[in-house]
Amino acid sequence: MDLNLKKHHGELLFLPLGGANEIGMNVNLYHLDGKWIMIDCGMGFAYDVPGVDMMAADISFIKANRKNLLGIVITHIHEDHLGAVQHLWRELEVPVYATELAANFLRTKLQEHKLEKTVPIHIIDSSKDLNLHPFKLEFIGLTHSVPEMKAVMVKTHKGNVLHTGDWKFDPDPVVGDISEKEKIKAYGDAGEILAVICDSTNALSEGHSRSEGELYESLKSLIEGRKGLVGVTTFASNLARIHTIARIAKDVGRKVVLAGFSLHRLYEVGKKSGYFKEDFEFISDREMKFHSKSELLVISTGCQGEPNAGTRKIATDMHPTIRFTKGDLMIFSSKIIPGNEKKIFELFDELAKKQIDVLTEKDHFVHVSGHPSQDELYEMYDLAKPKVAIPVHGEFIHTQAHCKIAKDCNVSRVIQIENGAAVKLNNDNPTASEIVGKVKSGYIGIDGKQLLNLNSEIFRERKKLQFAGIINISLTVNDALILTSKPRITAVGSYDLRNDRQAEEMIQSEIQLLLKIKARELKLSAGGFGLKFLKNKKSRKKLQESKVMSEVEKSLRNKMLKVFEDLMGKRPALEIAIHLVG
Ligand SMILES: [Zn+2]
Ligand SMILES: [Zn+2]
Repeated sequence: MDLNLKKHHGELLFLPLGGANEIGMNVNLYHLDGKWIMIDCGMGFAYDVPGVDMMAADISFIKANRKNLLGIVITHIHEDHLGAVQHLWRELEVPVYATELAANFLRTKLQEHKLEKTVPIHIIDSSKDLNLHPFKLEFIGLTHSVPEMKAVMVKTHKGNVLHTGDWKFDPDPVVGDISEKEKIKAYGDAGEILAVICDSTNALSEGHSRSEGELYESLKSLIEGRKGLVGVTTFASNLARIHTIARIAKDVGRKVVLAGFSLHRLYEVGKKSGYFKEDFEFISDREMKFHSKSELLVISTGCQGEPNAGTRKIATDMHPTIRFTKGDLMIFSSKIIPGNEKKIFELFDELAKKQIDVLTEKDHFVHVSGHPSQDELYEMYDLAKPKVAIPVHGEFIHTQAHCKIAKDCNVSRVIQIENGAAVKLNNDNPTASEIVGKVKSGYIGIDGKQLLNLNSEIFRERKKLQFAGIINISLTVNDALILTSKPRITAVGSYDLRNDRQAEEMIQSEIQLLLKIKARELKLSAGGFGLKFLKNKKSRKKLQESKVMSEVEKSLRNKMLKVFEDLMGKRPALEIAIHLVG
């Protein structure tokens, strides 16, 4: 059922456009009294779309309502929360609210799109509420794998909603402040939280997530005493981890080299925002040659096996300056994300072939998650005591497990939601909170400078090209359908015509034959009005010409598809161009 906005004008609605069906591309909308706010505008990884690595949510619904959109609020610097702003902002043109770190990070991304002077970014002051009438937003700090992660208490006259963002309860987050549990508890104890919209990433993991501080000891023990070069690869956005590694490097007497553009960017942004203050020694890769291997620690991007990232370049000796050799060490301080296994294991192999030691989360304690495990979710519900729980930031299996936990915590109404579904949050009768309609949602591929619907014809064609290549046939005929020169045939990524003259000749003669048959047929079907006759009647000639040519093209297409299917055993893409000369 389509969402009837008029009917729900005065109601508090929660409507995710992204992030409810997946881990990635979080876009959350809240509505009241005809006004909207957006919390986060992130991007996600695209799989199996040739040429497209990243995707964003289809925001056409809110684009159509943008005059009532009051702003975009960013919870933290991760790509799945702010990574689509530079791609989608033009469609919304509203103010953006972010912490100083997130704002500095966002500006560097906007620069790449020449938008840094256009997008109004307001720095959040956590000490007071942000008033976006009818919403009042209070920012509550929670620990995560980056500092300045702000949960948002969306306060309205129809009830308060705690939008958690990404979080864990980490007593020792290494950088940034610890979670402001007491603020949540105060609202919870007063029974003032109507709903919690919460992170489901690790809802399947038992226990409590481990602390970034604990990881320091483990990683240090693995690095300490090594003679050769040490590399640690992690997510370039994991500021806490980079901080942890830099501190270990300092404590074991190594200088840090950053390999990868996004790491440099995060480091610069972090420094500008007041992080990396300790006297860490970062040097450039060009300075490496002045130091012995045992004095260096490389942090590289590409822990998911990305083809152009630092770790892959190191593994394949394609990096311009950094060389790892036998006996050196590479630690994957990251999660092996489902879907990326193949690329990651290829990378392990490349490194192993060079006799570089590889340590991963599979065999050593080298990574901690930034998301809440089950015990933390229980604790959150215990603190917040919401009447309604709507798990987000997960695939179906995660939100489902999270729903079970919320029910265990006696939350009276638990709703498993999907992208595009609008929930009416009912403060008077919370158990009557329910999905009241759906709006358009979907996935947009970020294809270089273009934003394209993943269902678009372009991707279908591209997949076809990838599957069986493309045949191009270009021919010139006169108005009696006689070839004026030899047709040009190219077969890119499909069939090796250059080394099969016989096939080429066969195709040429098939084309000639088909044209002959067609010429005869058309003259007959036109009741004796041959093409030559039409020459004198200009407009009819044009019409007839186009009809004839499209018919010829259709027949030629069918014939050629058959010919190539016989040759190749599969169907390639086919482009035919017929030029008519007088
Ligand atoms: Zn995050
Ligand atoms: Zn996230």
